[in-house]
Amino acid sequence: MLSWPVAILIGMDVPVAGRDYPGTLREFNAWFPDDQACLGYLAGLRWPGGFVCAVCGGDRAWRMGKGRNLRCARCRIDHSVTAGTIFADTRLPLSTWFQAAWYVTGTKHGVSALGLQRLLGLGSYETAWALLHKLRRAMVRPERDPLAGELEVDETAIGPSKPGKLGRGTFADKAIVAIAVEARPRGACGRVRLARIPDCSAPTLTEFVGGAVAPGAVVYTDHWRGYDGLVAAGLVHMRTSIAASGDPAHVVMPRAHRVSSLLKRWLLGTHQGATRPQQLDFYLDEFAFRFNRRSSRQRGLLFHRLLEQAVQIDHVPIAAITGGRP
Ligand SMILES: [Zn+2]
Repeated sequence: MLSWPVAILIGMDVPVAGRDYPGTLREFNAWFPDDQACLGYLAGLRWPGGFVCAVCGGDRAWRMGKGRNLRCARCRIDHSVTAGTIFADTRLPLSTWFQAAWYVTGTKHGVSALGLQRLLGLGSYETAWALLHKLRRAMVRPERDPLAGELEVDETAIGPSKPGKLGRGTFADKAIVAIAVEARPRGACGRVRLARIPDCSAPTLTEFVGGAVAPGAVVYTDHWRGYDGLVAAGLVHMRTSIAASGDPAHVVMPRAHRVSSLLKRWLLGTHQGATRPQQLDFYLDEFAFRFNRRSSRQRGLLFHRLLEQAVQIDHVPIAAITGGRP
């Protein structure tokens, strides 16, 4: 008889290093010597329960020569493994995508476009840049679970600082990022959700918190009036203030403050602050992807998750990426 934790593990089908994804660079190189090997891996992610023909329901298929198609053994119709994914209509070899995904997920702080261009010997900076941005598009799980429990919510401004101003007075001409982070005991952080927001008004902040947080969650904020609408949105709202602590060095939202510092350091460190405001969303996605999986001891699992999401999301034309999100 199975004890219940084992049964739950089987039910969740947790991927295993060495079986479901490469655990080491040596394994990575052995698993993915060419594009056909990469295509087989993507097919496995696209049809995790085995191939099922969308036309006739047949469950057997043949790999077609050098292309990216599987041909249904029953109705003989071809199905592209990469159509509708970030790998569609790319001229880069799949093995290059896989190497990029491995580097992006295998390093603690990720890699810049220039760094990736050098690592993979890519022909142009633009190619490396577009490749990274497409991978970032796959870093957000569309059906991701809302944050729950106790949370800290705050905003931060990204951009060069101007002297002489304090608090939200420094936000003019900068990109504003809303931060929601799960508060774990002893000052620890749980998962994080980030979004670029147009302003710190009540409608904007209520929409952000409402979209990031499960109903019934307990949300801690400072005394900013922009958070006045949270109770009406079905959340438990707690306000804290610097004055109440009596400690001038005290930070009101220590976890949100830490996330803000890490985010700024990452943007400046890995990307040398070279992020354009309209593309900041994609960097926030990458930061959250890393942060929310920071305790994962298996970096290969991040690679697996990234490719898993990459074959699930809709194909994004490059114009939509250079233009940023609406
Ligand atoms: Zn068929």
